Amino acid sequence: MRTWELRYTASSDIMEWEQDAAKELERVPEHVRSMAKMGIETSAAKKGKTIVTIDDVKEAERQFMALMVKDEKTTKIAVVRCDIVSEVCPGVACFKAFNKRKVHFSEYGEAEIIGFFTCGGCPGRRVHRLVESLLKHGLDVIHLSSCMLMERGYPRCPHIDEIKQNILKKGVKVVEGTHH
Ligand code: SF4
Repeated sequence: MRTWELRYTASSDIMEWEQDAAKELERVPEHVRSMAKMGIETSAAKKGKTIVTIDDVKEAERQFMALMVKDEKTTKIAVVRCDIVSEVCPGVACFKAFNKRKVHFSEYGEAEIIGFFTCGGCPGRRVHRLVESLLKHGLDVIHLSSCMLMERGYPRCPHIDEIKQNILKKGVKVVEGTHH
């Protein structure tokens, strides 16, 4: 029982789907189904297969669930920083503080940075849009980078309160500072 559909994988090999495998795939939510399908086919192709079976789909499901369990325990962090300062700062100190769990990152256990972006210029026009986008990836907390807060070297961001309120309104926690 096979050949629900023919398609080409990234490696241009023909990949077929057994019917029960295809049926199982239909249980995956529609908005991520094509991505799941591509992942399953790529994984099957790597094993030298040209037919996707129910076992391939179940294996992908198990891997996904394992990832989700780990994901639930992981705090997802994004850092927003000053667009003007980003001209001269690649963000090394922010990442160092996170990687070593220092200063404003010292409280985190299992955590990952899922976004690192500039505000888009005064008055922080890009923040709203990117926070919306990161929420789809499970964003928990936004750090306002230290360059937005410093009183010396760079001027403190005059729009910081507005930026902070806009993030809070979306139900995302805000931490002021990264490495200072
Ligand atoms: S809004 Fe604030 S953080 Fe963004 S560019 Fe202007 S001063 Fe920098």
